[in-house]
Amino acid sequence: MRANYKMQRLFVEGGLSENGTVALSAQQSHYLTHVMRMRERGDVLVFNGRDGEWRAVIATVSKKSVTLALAEQTLPQPATPDLVYCFAPIKAGRLDYMIQKAVEMGAGVLQPVITQHTQMAKIGTERLQANAIEAAEQCGVLAVPQVRAPVKLDRLLAEWDGSRALIFCDESAAGDNPVDALIGLKGRRLALIVGPEGGFSEDERRQLRALDFVTAIPLGPRILRADTAAVAALAVIQATIGDW
Ligand code: SAH
Repeated sequence: MRANYKMQRLFVEGGLSENGTVALSAQQSHYLTHVMRMRERGDVLVFNGRDGEWRAVIATVSKKSVTLALAEQTLPQPATPDLVYCFAPIKAGRLDYMIQKAVEMGAGVLQPVITQHTQMAKIGTERLQANAIEAAEQCGVLAVPQVRAPVKLDRLLAEWDGSRALIFCDESAAGDNPVDALIGLKGRRLALIVGPEGGFSEDERRQLRALDFVTAIPLGPRILRADTAAVAALAVIQATIGDW
């Protein structure tokens, strides 16, 4: 049964099970009662990234908080996508967009990477995690991606699990068709990396291309903005070798 997108979907921390109850946070309670003007016996959907999606009924509304009574599981918990999305942080507004698109398009892990030209070296992973949760609430994703702590490119590559293919979105790659390069990765565990507004340096490009677990791909003849490149790369990867 497909989720009912007309109903509000809320991410909650606690466990979800038969006849359980959920006490919403003050912010969520305010949203349901004052913004969405919902009352007792109203229906919402809740998920926690572990127990699938549940239909819940507003049981009690007090000044500060709303309690939900779980009615039925509407969707089972899907497997967490195994795609690791590595990205050099970019300016806040576009970073929010990029995180949302990565979540919508099946990223399972969000890994910020600090490269030579990264301008936003200081980013709050809490903000990224909140973005990922909001994207999951809005687009029906039940497995909330894990946001990892930022890491420098050298360290990321030094500690890389070689069994996972790293797809390098290389803005200087020649015009060969990315699909031909990707087809050879079918069945492999996958990751991709997208650079910052300033692009990858020549040293970084050489470093990446020298690694046997790296596959460089072009994303067409035009230089795309990093957030556009994220969507283009995820689309071509999912379309050719994604696990859907
Ligand atoms: N300012 C840089 C472009 C950076 S775009 C320049 O002018 O060269 C940000 C990132 O998006 C790049 O590092 C790359 O990872 C990705 N990207 C953008 N356009 C691309 C393309 N045509 N092919 C492959 N990757 C691309």
